[in-house]
Amino acid sequence: MLAERIIAALREIVSAQNVLSEANQVKAYDCDAYVAEKSLPGAVVFPESTDQVARVVKLCNQESIPFLPRGAGTGLSGGATPRNNDLVISLARMDKLLAVDFDNQRAVVQPGFVNLVLTKTIAERGFYYAPDPSSQSVCTIGGNLAENAGGSHCLKYGVTTNHVVAAKVVLPSGEIADFGHPFGDPVGYDVLGVIVGSEGTLGIATEITVKILKRPEAVKTVLAYFDHVDDASRTVSDIISSGIIPAAVEMMDQLMMQAVDKSHYHVGYPLDIEAALLVEVDGLSAGVEDTARRVMEICEQNHVRRVQIAKDDAERALWWSSRKMAFPAIGRISPDYLVQDGVIPRTKLTEVLRRIAELSREHGLRVANVFHAGDGNLHPLICYDARIPGQREQAMKLGERILEQCVDAGGSITGEHGVGLEKIGQMAYMFSATDLKAQRRLREVFNPRDLCNSGKLIPHPARCAEFRDARKSAAQHMNPTGRNIFREEAHESC
Ligand SMILES: Cc1cc2nc3c(=O)[nH]c(=O)nc-3n(C[C@H](O)[C@H](O)[C@H](O)COP(=O)(O)OP(=O)(O)OC[C@H]3O[C@@H](n4cnc5c(N)ncnc54)[C@H](O)[C@@H]3O)c2cc1C
Repeated sequence: MLAERIIAALREIVSAQNVLSEANQVKAYDCDAYVAEKSLPGAVVFPESTDQVARVVKLCNQESIPFLPRGAGTGLSGGATPRNNDLVISLARMDKLLAVDFDNQRAVVQPGFVNLVLTKTIAERGFYYAPDPSSQSVCTIGGNLAENAGGSHCLKYGVTTNHVVAAKVVLPSGEIADFGHPFGDPVGYDVLGVIVGSEGTLGIATEITVKILKRPEAVKTVLAYFDHVDDASRTVSDIISSGIIPAAVEMMDQLMMQAVDKSHYHVGYPLDIEAALLVEVDGLSAGVEDTARRVMEICEQNHVRRVQIAKDDAERALWWSSRKMAFPAIGRISPDYLVQDGVIPRTKLTEVLRRIAELSREHGLRVANVFHAGDGNLHPLICYDARIPGQREQAMKLGERILEQCVDAGGSITGEHGVGLEKIGQMAYMFSATDLKAQRRLREVFNPRDLCNSGKLIPHPARCAEFRDARKSAAQHMNPTGRNIFREEAHESC
């Protein structure tokens, strides 16, 4: 816990009811939705304005206290998990919609404003906020900005970085800066582009201007059942290479459908099929029906067992609810699970899904898959039982092997959940020493004392050797053929 003198100074800034400092009060902030690593914060503060955030951060600088921002804590890579008695700066009480400009299609929100609430608030006028993470009913736009969050409909509309146009940021020094501009392209360096996706390591966003879009005139949703995963994977590539840009293309495998079937969402998936595809197309009424028919034809060319268009909004909503609630549904078939988040070129779906199935067998743990297939953004859910000694560690190892497969296939270690604490070791698998050094230098410009979300995203040079040795021994164990592409030589001085 932080010293009583510091707690008193924090109370002075944000008022007594906006500070938690007892161990039993701060326990709920010891991790985010990545529960494998936990650590009690020194205290939690709830500022209500940019000025209060800046004063808290200045106090942290004076007293050399590490601090980190937190939204709703739904992050899946440990980004909002404290370390070293950090001060957690919760943005939960900065949850106001500050302005909406329908004519110019912009909204200004405080960082704790919940993603879905924005869409609900502007729906009456036929507008919505496009980035739609499955956690959108609770996650905040500040957290979305920090993670560059994606979602099912980001295939056509782009991820958070394509929708945030300006932000007010409290820098790690406590100074307040404005980046981006509500209108037009950035002038000078695109600093906003660096802030978005920086996982709370370059400052704290306290006001965010986003684009809001007009709802498309028409939407058609297609659900297709495939006996073989390979046919479903080929369908994804064929749809997109035919020139169609669906709003969303999502895939679920058999184990995932079994879990969803046990939840509240009874879609009636045939449980003997290997994969289901959910494809949504939208746009002007005139063309959407034809596009949906074309999608169905492509499914048929790839040996679909059954394919149908949602008959009404209720059916479409049921299909989407079953997809969006897939992660929690895994709890129906496994006491614990670890969500992974790798990216691959979508043309490699068949190959990488097969390899994941092999790795699952080798590690003796079941893996369910539900993912943004159109973007090649995989979410393997590794099922384990933490009560069995060693299973959690085995699940984490399997997760690492899966991410390495993604990198080997020409992809990446994260599509939308970020690096945080969880994947910091894999950064050395994906990037060369020079790449990492450049990223580290960038962080030092903003965060020279490393007080702001320390230990996340970019590995400290001293830890690279540790990661390198771990990777090397894993590579020898898993890949005796020597095919592993770990860029060992590049990390000697990382
Ligand atoms: C069931 C489930 C489904 C999910 N589905 C998706 C999905 O489809 N797509 C997707 O992208 N993610 C998904 N996620 C992950 C998560 O919801 C997103 O990463 C989300 O953007 C995190 O928002 P949050 O408000 O919970 O942020 P937190 O978890 O509180 O914080 C996330 C990171 O942002 C930083 N941060 C928070 N607020 C600020 C701020 N104001 N300024 C600077 N940094 C800040 C934190 O320090 C931390 O590093 C899912 C999570 C769950 C549990």
